[in-house]
Amino acid sequence: MTLVDSFGRTHNNLRISVTDRCNIRCFYCMPEGPVQYMPRQHLLTYEEITELVTIFVSLGIDRVRLTGGEPLVRQDLPVLIKSLKAIDGLVDIGLTTNGILLADQAQALKEAGLSRINISLDALDEASFREFARRDGLEAVLRGIEAAQRVGLDPIKINAVAVRGLTEKQIIPFGEFALKTGIDVRFIEYMPLDAENQWEREKVLFAGEIRQALIEHFGPLTPESTSSREAPATDYTFANGQGQIGFIASVSEPFCNRCNRLRLTADGKLRNCLFSLEETDLKSLLRLEESVDHRKRLIAEAIRDSVAHKKEGHEINTARFIQPARPMHSIGG
Ligand code: SAM
Ligand code: SF4
Repeated sequence: MTLVDSFGRTHNNLRISVTDRCNIRCFYCMPEGPVQYMPRQHLLTYEEITELVTIFVSLGIDRVRLTGGEPLVRQDLPVLIKSLKAIDGLVDIGLTTNGILLADQAQALKEAGLSRINISLDALDEASFREFARRDGLEAVLRGIEAAQRVGLDPIKINAVAVRGLTEKQIIPFGEFALKTGIDVRFIEYMPLDAENQWEREKVLFAGEIRQALIEHFGPLTPESTSSREAPATDYTFANGQGQIGFIASVSEPFCNRCNRLRLTADGKLRNCLFSLEETDLKSLLRLEESVDHRKRLIAEAIRDSVAHKKEGHEINTARFIQPARPMHSIGG
């Protein structure tokens, strides 16, 4: 079984948001002031997520990534990982976290069956960290990265959002960090998913500019031959063969024609694109008073229908673009 859309793209990758809550306030994702969080009874339970993922897997999904909001603020995340791990046919479980709570949880996450982890970190000095996150936290994140290495989570990748006016001074420090630690650092172009509608194309620091600055400082970068065709990141190695730097150029070099992703929000809505203006309510189907088999059929049909109606791509670079009503923390990045 495969989930193929009308443009021939096969979807095997599901990103699952487990909460819209967060312990920091990155300006490109969350509002600065009070946040209207989803009421708790609207969140999918771990049992419900597992039931949905089992259906997704029967349709062709074989990898999932847990995200949020900040997934580590949701209680007992290892319990969910263990339960997903038991699903036959699911080959990969990843996690994207801001790393603040990671030092305490890395061991339990690893033991539950997590392998890959992406840790978001936009700056390597505390003052700049605060400019992005509007909170302190650099020390905690660095401790989290060390703990992830210590318990053997592999691979570990760092995600840094690339914002003009802020990221320029982080480029060389991140290059040095990648060389020193052997951890892959990926720059993600700032996308229009902030809560305050402040995004402008002029505020994006483009992948090409970052790549150029790295080459001028460190010498040639060699494209990684192992970069997967479906993966949004293009990875490069430094001339000495140690350390990797990658770019997710969602704005300057969109990769929609290779997209293999679906997204499930914490309140059980399926989004076939990060930038969708429409969602499919799987939670209501899941909570219907129907037989398990009937519910499964309805949910599978709804998933197939959503995939069939996926649009060709986002329209960030056109005047037609409309920013989704949900900001990133509520969609699941
Ligand atoms: N809280 C976790 C974290 O920060 O890693 C997981 C959720 S976060 C929404 C997932 C990823 O989306 C992070 O790497 C974050 O930097 C990225 N992100 C959030 N808003 C973004 C935006 N407007 N443009 C580009 N990336 C964004
Ligand atoms: Fe929180 Fe992640 Fe959004 Fe930053 S990017 S505010 S850490 S959910």
